[in-house]
Amino acid sequence: PDSFLSVRDLKVRFSTEDGIVKAVDGLSFDVERGKTLGIVGESGSGKSVTNLTILGLHNPRTSTVEGEIVLDGKELVTATERELERLRGNKMAMIFQDPLTALSPFYTVGRQLSEPYMKHKGASKKEAKDRAIEMLTKVGIPQPKMRFDDYPHQFSGGMRQRAMIAMALMCDPDLLIADEPTTALDVTVQAQILDLLKDLQQEFGSAIIFITHDLGVISHVADDLLVMYAGRAVERGSVREVMREPKHPYTWGLLSSMPRLDSSVDEALEPIPGSPPSLLNPPSGCPFHPRCAFRDQVPGTLCSDTRPPLGEGRAAACHLTAEQKQTIFIDKIQPR
Ligand code: SF4
Ligand code: MG
Repeated sequence: PDSFLSVRDLKVRFSTEDGIVKAVDGLSFDVERGKTLGIVGESGSGKSVTNLTILGLHNPRTSTVEGEIVLDGKELVTATERELERLRGNKMAMIFQDPLTALSPFYTVGRQLSEPYMKHKGASKKEAKDRAIEMLTKVGIPQPKMRFDDYPHQFSGGMRQRAMIAMALMCDPDLLIADEPTTALDVTVQAQILDLLKDLQQEFGSAIIFITHDLGVISHVADDLLVMYAGRAVERGSVREVMREPKHPYTWGLLSSMPRLDSSVDEALEPIPGSPPSLLNPPSGCPFHPRCAFRDQVPGTLCSDTRPPLGEGRAAACHLTAEQKQTIFIDKIQPR
């Protein structure tokens, strides 16, 4: 496949007072041009760290990065801060959960959109302003010419989110990373923003990484899905395949704790028992084994001794046999 971003055996470690945290532990994935990869997992699964590392926004003094991140032929792990700075906002851009991490309260929205464009594209003030108004229009800000001179606090939450998307799109990035971009918004605005992202992707053809803890959200926006647990990928496939026939017990847990739109009664949600493991001292073998209800179906102590590999393509890192993965899901887990 025409892989635009390729991540291979990525390992990110942090030194803390208590020891080394293995935040990302041998992660590989690809994103194609014009496609959206959803990365789903609980907080602390390594999804945000992975993406900050791609952007080169990790702190080099407290973290070490191993492995390969190749964006359009350019290796990022070994890139200099200068090179990364040139790529950020130009070739790659980020949309955060909280627009106020990206938008400064001290400058007008228009100025914050224009300046990076002037810097990265060598555009004049006038060109940058025209482009900013064009982008504000595209993301659905009413009266963009007037709004250009507003400060972020003069925008509503949903409008700030739109302004941040406009800012991310200013330089026509090839890779857009969205980290829980709609979590703070009410459901209606959330749906509008997701639709907007989809439309803009069609228009701009960028690759998107969409990070969330919410499988429901991801099923609307992503083409492919990576399920992360304890700094590793535990399942990969197209969204359709993973949602219809998930193969990893952790994904089963995520799916059965998901509110169902089609249910008329308030079904009791079944949260995954236990909590995510400490990455200071991750479990041996399969990282999910302390919480897994199916490990007694695997012979011996394989689950607690041996790390299950994630194969290529459509795959789940689990010692259950292919047949078990299918029958257990269909008999026990599949939503009725
Ligand atoms: Fe559960 Fe074992 Fe599969 Fe891990 S490898 S998810 S513990 S069955
Ligand atoms: Mg996060």
